[in-house]
Amino acid sequence: ERNLDATLQEDDLALDKNLRPQHLSEYLGQEKIKESLAILVEAAKKRGETPDHILFSGPPGLGKTTLAGVVANELSSRIKTTSGPAIERTGDLAALLTNLEEGDVLFIDEIHRLNKMVEEVLYPALEDFVLDIIVGKGPAARSIRLELPHFTLIGATTRAGLLTGPLRDRFGVAFRLQYYTPRELAEIVQRSASILGIRIQDEGALEIARRSRGTPRLANRVLKRVRDWAQVQGIDCIDEDVAAQALSFFEIDHLGLDTMDNRILELLVKSFFGKPVGLSTIASALSEDPSTIEDVYEPFLIQQGLIARTPKGRQATRRAYEHLGVPFEDGTA
Ligand code: ADP
Repeated sequence: ERNLDATLQEDDLALDKNLRPQHLSEYLGQEKIKESLAILVEAAKKRGETPDHILFSGPPGLGKTTLAGVVANELSSRIKTTSGPAIERTGDLAALLTNLEEGDVLFIDEIHRLNKMVEEVLYPALEDFVLDIIVGKGPAARSIRLELPHFTLIGATTRAGLLTGPLRDRFGVAFRLQYYTPRELAEIVQRSASILGIRIQDEGALEIARRSRGTPRLANRVLKRVRDWAQVQGIDCIDEDVAAQALSFFEIDHLGLDTMDNRILELLVKSFFGKPVGLSTIASALSEDPSTIEDVYEPFLIQQGLIARTPKGRQATRRAYEHLGVPFEDGTA
């Protein structure tokens, strides 16, 4: 079973909480985004207003939720957290909105999964800070308008492309988080190690970083697994060699690819000989959910130049052949 992917699991919740940066200064990497957010926060504070609504997009585990918390902290605001699928009815949203206080941050994770009716109630709330609700039924029904406190919505999504146009338009700013470089991730690993009281050398942290798919959540999880492995071996400090051995034990290769990533590559290279393959074909061949392939696995494989998205489907690149040690054949030929 894959348990080293970047999606959130039960036992991560405590870990996530302890390791989550609280302020912009502790949040490593994503430099451009941090600079823009610092300005946004500073300007809003100077004007004594709430900042524009903010959208964060990017693959899971890159720090969207963390960044929302950081922004709220920097604004000295309270944050209320929910998610798209959790807001089932318009009444749920109305309850959330009417409980906000002036200046609050409302964080909606997986915002692309809001349903249509809820979304439509959200629009005027975002634009004019009002809530239109229908009271009564039949001919006696009438609409009343409630004023809402000014708040900032922070939305997070793994799939910015799935947001409806009107919703996207209501965000004043949108940021796409990028995979972290090994250097940045190594710093995150060092920071986490010191919080968790784990002894680790720079080279050990870098080895974990190189093999964590550019993803902080994964780097933290891998750090913990490597720590466990080292402990069982009676090793009390993680160096490069210890990290490498532990990672091999967990079947994470030198690019940070795990068993599922490699199965995807093998499918494209060995079963389809480099020809383009549709997402649903890949998913059913590997008994995976298409959206998991698309959200969790594929973005990193694309970023690493191992697969390409073509109009006809997903295709292995020359680098994928090299990675698998298979002579390159151009499937488009
Ligand atoms: P997302 O919401 O994008 O899925 P999270 O915000 O939950 O990701 O981040 C997952 C974990 O990774 C956090 O608990 C935090 O410990 C760590 N993390 C994410 N981004 C950073 C960062 N820039 N610096 C340090 N730690 C980070």
